[in-house]
Amino acid sequence: MADMKCNVAVVYMHDHLDGDLAREEMKQLQQHLSECPSCYTRYESLERTDALVRALPIEKAPDDLSARIMKSLPSRRRPAAWTSWVRRHPAVSAAAIFMVVMLSSFVSMWNQSQEFSVSGPDLEHVIIEGKNVIVPEGQKVSGNLTVVNGDVQVLGDLDGNLTVIDGHLTPLASTAHIAGEIKTIDRAVDWFWYKVSSFFGTLAYGS
Ligand SMILES: [Zn+2]
Repeated sequence: MADMKCNVAVVYMHDHLDGDLAREEMKQLQQHLSECPSCYTRYESLERTDALVRALPIEKAPDDLSARIMKSLPSRRRPAAWTSWVRRHPAVSAAAIFMVVMLSSFVSMWNQSQEFSVSGPDLEHVIIEGKNVIVPEGQKVSGNLTVVNGDVQVLGDLDGNLTVIDGHLTPLASTAHIAGEIKTIDRAVDWFWYKVSSFFGTLAYGS
């Protein structure tokens, strides 16, 4: 019989105390314990602990224990828990309430201001079809072009800045050339963050 390693012996000890060690493995364990004083000591203490645990009136514990825990808890009303959390975190709560209130008022306000508009000094060279704004291929539009709440497609030249607010800019065609800056602004998001940051700015400066 090959010498058992101590780590294997420890596994066997636990298996044995759990009552599921095969007879052959039990023999190997006994062999090891007779040769290895440290494992024998360990086995003895494990066995003692095991005996102690078994001696405890474990079956009765859950009832008593849960009853005692329930009694020691404050009455479990959710609103109470919620208000106490709010009391402990006033700043976070204020911010959260502020966000909700502002977001809801903002959404209702925003839905009323979704108007399509195109502005710029040279709109006669721009094709406007419904909410689609097109700078045609081969065409040169001078100055800036600003589109609110529309779809923009640039196929030709724009000799200025292109600003798309709350709209959609079709990826530029290969024939497109824009001399200035291209800006796409989601006013909804920008406005929201402007309001949020100014709110927190007010908190920070205490004004
Ligand atoms: Zn050993």
